[in-house]
Amino acid sequence: MVKVNKNKCIGCGACAATYSEIFHMEEDGKAGVKSGVDAKKNAKSIKEAIKNCPAEAISN
Ligand code: SF4
Repeated sequence: MVKVNKNKCIGCGACAATYSEIFHMEEDGKAGVKSGVDAKKNAKSIKEAIKNCPAEAISN
C-alpha cells in the first residue's frame, strides 16, 4: 500500500501536482494518499512518484 512518511515529506507538492489521482496535500502541509486509490491500476505512477520525491518520503 502506497504511503507518505509525514516525518520525511517536505511539502514540496510535486507528487500532488503530477499524480493528482493518487496524492493530495493535507492540512498539515504534507502530502497524503487519497482514499480509494487503486494501487494496481496506478502502479506505474506510484513507482515514478517514489522515484521523483526529493525527500524519499513515498513508499510502497
Ligand atoms: S513529492 Fe515527496 S516531499 Fe514532495 S509533497 Fe510529495 S511526498 Fe512530500
